[in-house]
Amino acid sequence: MNIDMNLLYKTAFNSANEGLVLVNKTGEIIEVNTKTIKLFGYSKEELLGQKVEILMSSKYHKSHVATRNSYHKKPSAREMSNEKSHLFGMRKDGTEMPINISLNPFEMEGERFVLALISDVTKSRKLLEELKSTKDNLFKLNLELENLVIKRTKQLRKSQKLYQLIAQSFPNGIINVLNSEYEYVFAEGKDLKNRKIVPDSLIGTSFLSQFNESSKANILDKLKLVSTDSIQSLQVEIDECYYELNIIGLANSDNVIDQILIVQFNISQLKKHEKEQERALVKERELGVMKSRFVSMASHEFRTPLSAILSSSSLIEKYEKEEQQGNRLKHTARIKSSVNNLTNILNDFLSFDKLSSGNINVTIERFDLMEAIEAALDEIQVLKKKGQKFIVDKDATHTVESDPKLLKNIIINLISNAIKYSDEGSEVEIRVSEKKESIKIEIKDSGIGIPEEEQKKMFQRFFRAGNVSNIQGTGLGLNIVKKYVELLNGNITFESKLNVGSTFIVTLPKIFSHV
Ligand code: ADP
Repeated sequence: MNIDMNLLYKTAFNSANEGLVLVNKTGEIIEVNTKTIKLFGYSKEELLGQKVEILMSSKYHKSHVATRNSYHKKPSAREMSNEKSHLFGMRKDGTEMPINISLNPFEMEGERFVLALISDVTKSRKLLEELKSTKDNLFKLNLELENLVIKRTKQLRKSQKLYQLIAQSFPNGIINVLNSEYEYVFAEGKDLKNRKIVPDSLIGTSFLSQFNESSKANILDKLKLVSTDSIQSLQVEIDECYYELNIIGLANSDNVIDQILIVQFNISQLKKHEKEQERALVKERELGVMKSRFVSMASHEFRTPLSAILSSSSLIEKYEKEEQQGNRLKHTARIKSSVNNLTNILNDFLSFDKLSSGNINVTIERFDLMEAIEAALDEIQVLKKKGQKFIVDKDATHTVESDPKLLKNIIINLISNAIKYSDEGSEVEIRVSEKKESIKIEIKDSGIGIPEEEQKKMFQRFFRAGNVSNIQGTGLGLNIVKKYVELLNGNITFESKLNVGSTFIVTLPKIFSHV
């Protein structure tokens, strides 16, 4: 094959993808290829014979001449631009474009030429710049992200600390966070401190282990219903302390409940108050019932002596004659006894009321017990039935330190019962004996006695035995006596046999001491 080498070089020259510019030693353009014409917008004719600077940005025109001259002194194949210093070419229309130029010097027939390869790097520069700005942006973003992470971590630590502090000072309770196995992940609160539990010692242990089986079952029932939007509440007991548990689920970022928050309030004090209130309410109700019972009983008991007084006083008026003095005395005695009955009922009422409202004060004095008993007997002489006698063991004097008023009330109450529940002509014995620190007062009658099966109810309010038939009474006396004896730190017992008689025994400390 015979190839026209000239044509081949020319064709190769023009089909190169870079601009090829052939320049002589003085910088004049000798030849350009098609790509150069395309790149710079000049015609071939316009370029040939021109200085090569025509293709360069005007800002290089001056300096380039010197650069070109020094290049020719020491020519070598090299790049005219690198990444740092961008080179700009200039088109015919005056617009500039970034270019890369590689210089290839050669000699032909003793003359020096340089073949410059020019490529338009607008696209690659743009790409490079984009890449650079992306890199910068990425770096900036990364930095921002890092700062954000640091800031958030700080915030998180701060809020964590804050939450911990809040939890630590959570009054009267504990804030617990459990994992899905119901083991502690977190626990803080004043109640832990009070119970001397170190929060860290709980981590990883079972929350449920502190409860008894029934509480455990109740809590488990609630835990099964746990959700993130409604609170499950229940009350439980731990070591005689009452707690209210409020349970709510904590969801993770996938919206799955993986932890449980249990806010545990110590409601022992509240429970105690509730119980006290309940007790007070029961007592108040009881008292209300008692009072209304007492009022109906008292009004019934008042009627008998009042009608006796009324009938006796109207009968007295009719006994005008001298010889009817006996009848008059009989009726005045009836009036006196009725008035005594009324007084007793009123006394019972007053004592009952005082005791109910807790208004009894114990006032301690030193006195002779036998003298006090004699004085009480004097007062109730009028109650004695016909032929009844008091037998008092007077052998010794007994000095005591107690409340004389309460003691007198006790003695009067017991002796008036002995009189009331015994027949005319019977004897009531009052015996006092002393031990080292206590004193015993026995009041014995030979009256109707108390049925054995009813004896255990004797000191109950309003209790009256079945055998009292129409003997007047309120059923309050013994209840009051027992309370008074207890106020004096003593105790009361009795022995009784139906239709044989009863003995009431009061034992008191010789010297009362406030316990
Ligand atoms: P009251 O005498 O006003 O009924 P008390 O509380 O003093 O009330 O006594 C309660 C009951 O105890 C009496 O109703 C009576 O049944 C019985 N009782 C008390 N003392 C005696 C006694 N000495 N002998 C027999 N029964 C008595």
